Amino acid sequence: MSSNTPPTTVESTVSQPGDEEEVTSAVATARRQLEHAAAHLDIDSNIIERLKYPAAVHEVTVPVERDDGTVDVFTGYRAHHDSVRGPYKGGLRYHPGVTREECIGLSMWMTWKCAVMDLPFGGAKGGIVVDPKELSTSEKERLTRRFTDEIRDTIGPNKDIPAPDMGTDSQTMSWIMDAYSMQEAETLPGVVTGKPPVIGGSYGREEAPGRSVALIAREACNYYDYSPTETTVAVQGFGSVGANAARLLDEWGAIVVAVSNVNGAAYDPAGLDPHKIPSHDEEPEAVTDYADEIIGNDELLTLDVDLLIPAAIGDVITEANADSIQAHLIVEGANGPTTFAADEILAERDIPVVPDILANAGGVTVSYFEWLQDINRRSWSLEEVQDELDQEMMSAWNDVRAEVEKRDVTWRDAAYIVALSRLVDAHANRGLWP
Ligand code: NAD
Repeated sequence: MSSNTPPTTVESTVSQPGDEEEVTSAVATARRQLEHAAAHLDIDSNIIERLKYPAAVHEVTVPVERDDGTVDVFTGYRAHHDSVRGPYKGGLRYHPGVTREECIGLSMWMTWKCAVMDLPFGGAKGGIVVDPKELSTSEKERLTRRFTDEIRDTIGPNKDIPAPDMGTDSQTMSWIMDAYSMQEAETLPGVVTGKPPVIGGSYGREEAPGRSVALIAREACNYYDYSPTETTVAVQGFGSVGANAARLLDEWGAIVVAVSNVNGAAYDPAGLDPHKIPSHDEEPEAVTDYADEIIGNDELLTLDVDLLIPAAIGDVITEANADSIQAHLIVEGANGPTTFAADEILAERDIPVVPDILANAGGVTVSYFEWLQDINRRSWSLEEVQDELDQEMMSAWNDVRAEVEKRDVTWRDAAYIVALSRLVDAHANRGLWP
């Protein structure tokens, strides 16, 4: 196993590529995408082999006293993929479908995402197998504090910095920061990002992934010569990512014809006003209450629009519907919305797919700004955050676009090539430990 950091404990068996019954689609897709992109580069295959595996997967059990006095035990994971360029970074998910293999796959995507943005972080992801809707606030707090204690040795401002993800939010991050700081006997806001600004969070963090999706979508539309004021857009998922992206694109003149939540989509071929439809956060699952015409999510994905933004969940564009996609351009807001097989079909059909690891990377980029603010004990204004984010996104877009033009590859391969080149260079320079 090649690594230039001292070996960490792999606390449960790491399945091998090829154990198909063991791997979920997230890790299978992440590995196939890695191999696909690596084939375009003349790089050390030993480093690619190393990147197929996580450095460590920490699995813990978390006993929690319920409000009625009984004790339930939950399973939690924290997957560390690669830290050659800096501390591990990635979200923490509370969801009944969390698995260790999913955490590994998502941690790999975080490694590529940080590298494509040229951030000094590696990739991590974690989660607890729990339905947070079934917990009271105080049960969630006890779960979070105990989980923090169980993984305390593996996180820290210079080791691994969790952030919110599905089922977790700024309150969860506040509890983690407090639990960690109390045990370390000093206030360490840099242990997590996505906190409220009053305890070291960054302005603009919540809107950042949607903002970056909109920025990248705008650049992609310009690249393919779609007029900003005539571009039609369909957005699946009207949460933090989808609603912020839809509203910005609308402000920039695009015609947002459909937005959806888990119950269905609001549709108006003449254009909706996404500011008048409440996001998931503002009024959960209310999109269809504000619609004159409702269509299904499957129909939204196959609408005849210029731009499709899947911004809800993974694996929604698959072998089964890739042939029916009519959009001229796809910009991924969610993590992993397009399966490997669908990607190949869309490439054959000349439908460009601008990948998640570039498009929604505004979230981790502003997390990096938050971490810098915490370490320097100096907060930035919203304007500073947005200016810096816009610059970082444009720089990453230009790096990826240059590879598309130089090598005539897909946007996904180009983004991987940018990320892999940086990672392989870093591994080659640091060498193999011991
Ligand atoms: P969210 O919880 O704020 O909103 C999710 C939205 O998707 C809701 O409107 C929900 O109703 C809808 N949805 C859920 N299941 C659906 C389904 N089967 N069909 C259609 N719609 C469905 O979530 P979010 O933070 O906006 O995250 C969305 C995606 O973006 C996820 O894949 C997440 O991993 C990814 N992402 C989030 C961030 C972030 O910081 N929020 C950053 C990068 C990537």
